[in-house]
Amino acid sequence: MKKHNFNAGPSILPQEVLLKASEAVMDYNNSGLSVIEISHRSKDFVEIMEKARALALELLGLEGKGYKALFLQGGASTQFLMVALNLLEKRAGYLNSGTWAAKAIKEAKIYDDIYEVASSANANYNYIPKGYDIPSDYDYFHFTTNNTIFGTQMKSFPKCDIPMVCDMSSDIFSRAIDYSQFDLIYAGAQKNLGAAGTTLVVIKEDVLGKVSRKIPSMMDYKMHISKGSMFNTPPVFAVYTSMLTLEWLKNLGGVAAIEKENEKKASLMYSEIDLNPLFKGFATKEDRSTMNATFTLENENLKETFETMLKEGGINGINGHRSVGGYRASMYNALPLDSVKALVEIMSELESKA
Ligand code: PMP
Repeated sequence: MKKHNFNAGPSILPQEVLLKASEAVMDYNNSGLSVIEISHRSKDFVEIMEKARALALELLGLEGKGYKALFLQGGASTQFLMVALNLLEKRAGYLNSGTWAAKAIKEAKIYDDIYEVASSANANYNYIPKGYDIPSDYDYFHFTTNNTIFGTQMKSFPKCDIPMVCDMSSDIFSRAIDYSQFDLIYAGAQKNLGAAGTTLVVIKEDVLGKVSRKIPSMMDYKMHISKGSMFNTPPVFAVYTSMLTLEWLKNLGGVAAIEKENEKKASLMYSEIDLNPLFKGFATKEDRSTMNATFTLENENLKETFETMLKEGGINGINGHRSVGGYRASMYNALPLDSVKALVEIMSELESKA
């Protein structure tokens, strides 16, 4: 039986993507070769890479606006470092809204003093800090649009005159916003994009080339751009699955269409959390993420019963992160509404048993 997959990442991918990817692993387009056993310089693979790069820009509404898309390696964690290497000259401002934001700050601090514009660490990151100032003479402002662990999501973005850099690992392609307000976006593939192993980086080219340091080639965005995202051997399977997911999303109607689905799933999930007295939401209501819903079970005595019911119902991957505890239902683009219905049914059945 196929499980309801609420994993936080690596996480659910569209069935159609899994099917096409598994066929291509055996035989890519009747070529007699697997997609993972052909040269990355072959016409077939170059086409895949170019299509993935173009679709990423198209779906974000960034085509023809001076942006380049790259599929790099080393996870979003390497971007914490690359951003600083490529953009940090004097000082940068960072919003500390969660564990990943704090890790980004730690890496950037290797190069310079980082100014934390605001932090929600004192409340175990259960809200998004607001109402802070961003100094206009800084090199850039860095923030995390969706805090995967804590289930908080930025619903609006500050206006600032300096480049805006964001970690969008867990909510990229999930909603229709003006992506051109950001100058650099990065996101690990393993949530809304494809197999783990690649990180999408979308950069407005004119923010590059402004630092005085020498940048090692593998860390240099300009180098990757000049080589068409093929400076070295790319993670071919992760790029291929990303391309398939982007095609799937385009056929569905793009980010505006998937946003509607994501809203339906999130509102179903949160109304159960709010109405069912057995459960309590972790994140502040106004900052609740449409991608990751975090909640706790108030009565510990029901834990075993609840978890048996989850298991029997085929609900997979909803254990909370250790720093929050409780549960986390990740509802990425590929998760069907029916999976949320199945989870919510179990939660309300537990209430009737209690
Ligand atoms: N940023 C966010 C928001 C994340 O959720 C994660 C991983 N879950 C990371 C960064 C780190 O990504 P990676 O494991 O690809 O380095």
